[in-house]
Amino acid sequence: MDIGFIGLGNMGAHMARRLVEAGHKVIVYDVRQEAIGNIAALGAVAARSPKEVADAAETVMVSLPTPDIVLKVATGPDGVIEGKRVRRFVDLSTTGSVMAQRVFKLLAEKNIVQIDAPVSGGVRGAAKGTVAVMASGPRAEVEAVEPALKVIGKFFYIGEKSGAGQTMKLCNNVLSAAATVATSESFVTGVKAGLDPRTMVDVINASSGRSTATEQKFPETVIPRTFNQGFTAGLMLKDVNLFISEAKALGVPVEAIEAVAALLKLTCDELGSDSDITEVIKPIEKRAGVEVRAPKA
Ligand code: NAD
Repeated sequence: MDIGFIGLGNMGAHMARRLVEAGHKVIVYDVRQEAIGNIAALGAVAARSPKEVADAAETVMVSLPTPDIVLKVATGPDGVIEGKRVRRFVDLSTTGSVMAQRVFKLLAEKNIVQIDAPVSGGVRGAAKGTVAVMASGPRAEVEAVEPALKVIGKFFYIGEKSGAGQTMKLCNNVLSAAATVATSESFVTGVKAGLDPRTMVDVINASSGRSTATEQKFPETVIPRTFNQGFTAGLMLKDVNLFISEAKALGVPVEAIEAVAALLKLTCDELGSDSDITEVIKPIEKRAGVEVRAPKA
């Protein structure tokens, strides 16, 4: 199948590579020439704009950072909407259901079907093809891209309603964000009280407090101080704020998640939006005056 792929960043580069390796003809575009070059070297075809991608493929996938960029790439000048061949626009980014529905309506005017298919499972999951893919949109259209989405990860059909996959994804991501923030406060407290962080990991992973933060983020990136989870604090803050907007629009109180958003914002303010999500522990460490690291052997 011919597949366009726009946005070759931490996630997109792996997903596009997997599609190439699965034998699809993949036409790629990114604003970074270097990112295009890397994937073209593996056999993808380079394009010079989203429109050129959409001239060449019936299905165009995107993995882009923010809702506004998705809107621009999908419907702006030289965007996917102007492509001659495109029939389906598959958004693998996390953009929220409001933007998904907006893009759905705008593209529908040109008989292009928007499918939202946000993913979860991190850069490692994207590399291995183990991310959860949460697709929503007209069933027949989703079925047409299901084999390609199964190359990217574990496929879930969430429903017909545009944006349902996005809501699903945000409900997941706030749990991941909350666990990372809460685990940071827990570990800084434990370490300041004299506990060994490796012991904390072992005990918590055999107890009721375990999560992806204790099973993976803390042992693999926080305690070794590599902070290379591959997902930025800025993108997580975007996801948490999208969730808060959706929850408030539905009349759901979200005070705990608002506290999570406040710490993510503090991290972005102090360390920059490009800091790794696991660096959310640093503002807490700074104020507590301790670091969560393995004791020197
Ligand atoms: P990233 O910033 O690493 O990659 C985004 C890519 O889009 C970059 O290569 C950038 O150059 C490109 N880009 C930006 N503007 C563009 C434009 N106008 N036209 C074409 N390309 C453009 O981000 P990422 O971490 O790969 O995340 C992508 C999406 O996936 C985000 O919505 C994010 O929330 C979501 N996501 C990320 C992770 C993760 O662990 N990194 C996990 C699940 C979901």
